[in-house]
Amino acid sequence: MKAILTTPPKGGVKIAEIKLREEKGLRLRTLRTGICGTDKEIVEGRLNFARTETGNELVLGHEALAIVEDSGDSNEFKKGDIVVPMVRRPGNCRMCRLGRQDYCEDGDFVEAGIRGKDGFMREEFYDKEKFLVKVNDKSIADLAVLTEPMKNVMKMVEIFNFQRNRIPTYCDDSTMNCKNLYVFGTGTEGLLISAVFKTMGLNVIAVNRHPPDDTVAKFLEINDINYLDTSKESISSHSKKYKMDFAIDAVGSMDIMRDISLNISNNGISILFGTSGQMPSSNYEFLGNLVDKNIAVIGSVDGAKVHYAEAIEFISNYGRKMSLDRLITGIYKPEETGIFTNKEKGEIKKVIQWS
Ligand SMILES: [Zn+2]
Repeated sequence: MKAILTTPPKGGVKIAEIKLREEKGLRLRTLRTGICGTDKEIVEGRLNFARTETGNELVLGHEALAIVEDSGDSNEFKKGDIVVPMVRRPGNCRMCRLGRQDYCEDGDFVEAGIRGKDGFMREEFYDKEKFLVKVNDKSIADLAVLTEPMKNVMKMVEIFNFQRNRIPTYCDDSTMNCKNLYVFGTGTEGLLISAVFKTMGLNVIAVNRHPPDDTVAKFLEINDINYLDTSKESISSHSKKYKMDFAIDAVGSMDIMRDISLNISNNGISILFGTSGQMPSSNYEFLGNLVDKNIAVIGSVDGAKVHYAEAIEFISNYGRKMSLDRLITGIYKPEETGIFTNKEKGEIKKVIQWS
């Protein structure tokens, strides 16, 4: 069968014929896989923790949608069910054993298509039922490839609600209509964050350093999300006018962390999701601001099985209404491996169609 392979940590990408390795569990046929920044970093040899499962090649792909070909002895799934496989697989620590490998204590987990486990960019694979989440609403099958990046957002909602209830930061009428959330980054993750938090009744401001391209602008307009182009107006000037109550970073830059800490309101909540590998600068003075303003800064990575299920439910409820299809800006064949290194005009999410 066809598979897309890389050689970590060196990188590179090629399509090749490999044998289907028989494993315990269900046999699945890949429908779609999404490409994200992590895949590109692995291909470019910039992700130093990328590693193979066996041998010296890794099957790429951690965002996937698949169909059950053979359900084995599963009670939960049957042939023809559409599923999303989970990326991170537990090690043996306490949190991993609790099903919360997103809060792994010792780093002893593997991640499909990234570190220590072959991914889903291949025609078929085997997986255990506990790592599969069913897409009951088959009418959203074209969008459900967004489940994996969306589950990260559902975990952010969990964190956000926890902190928001601890210090009641809502408006006088008990809603969040008067509260502003600044979302840094307008790639797939940034736009999914903006979309989900918009449905929670917040006023959302998507932030980037340049004007939005047409695809992004249209998506924001449909969903009534505002845009701040920091090449035209600075964060500090904008947040003086509108008040930065909450902030989520999907970029991963220390400059953004500084901008947030200097401009966010007292008792603000700031969730840091982005990881760009940018090293902290020597100037930590801005961190004092976080202390004085009681800012909750929370790092967030990955999500648990429950967040995958919530992601699928969100896509089912809001996918069409919020035009999430506009985020899928290109559908390609597995052979078109140039898509890992090229950046198309207006590119947000590229998807490979397997069958
Ligand atoms: Zn663990």
